[in-house]
Formats: sequence, C-alpha cells, structure tokens
Amino acid sequence: MEQLGAHDPAEASNLNFGKRIGDGTTYAVERMTVAYQARTLYETVREIDSALLRLREGTYGRCTSCGNPIPAARLELVPWAALCVPCSAPARRA
Ligand SMILES: [Zn+2]
Repeated sequence: MEQLGAHDPAEASNLNFGKRIGDGTTYAVERMTVAYQARTLYETVREIDSALLRLREGTYGRCTSCGNPIPAARLELVPWAALCVPCSAPARRA
C-alpha cells in the first residue's frame, strides 16, 4: 500500500507533466506556424489584389517604385511582383 502510494502519484505526475509539455509545445509550434502562414497568405493575397488592380489600370508589369518594367522572368516567378529586382532588394533588407 505504501509502495503503491509512493509509486502511482509519481508516475501519474510524470506522465501528466510530460504529456502537458509535449502537447503544449506542439500546440504552440502549430499556432505559430499557422499564424505565420496566415500572415504570409494574407500578404500574398494583398499583393495579388494590388497586381490585379494594376492589371486593370494598365500599369501591371511596371515597378510601383521606379516605374521601370519588371523583367518577364521575375513576373513568371512572382506574377504579383510590384517591384523590380533593384527596388525590392532594400525593402527586403529593411
Ligand atoms: Zn523599381
């Protein structure tokens, strides 16, 4: 009885502790990943919306910063690109 009393709660608390930490960590990582993906997705959707607007205005394919044409290769890679390569470089660093 004393053996059971000493053994069981320790085992139970270890299991609970381990399980809680594991679940909590997985949950936190999941939440952060989802939040990051949602943010990236939201930004991409906003960029696509803006590209569609430029398409309607007839300014699509031109850098919104310097007005130079965005190379076709860049538009093939990122069709919603708003900036040419030189203009997007400092923005990415900031
Ligand atoms: Zn530019």
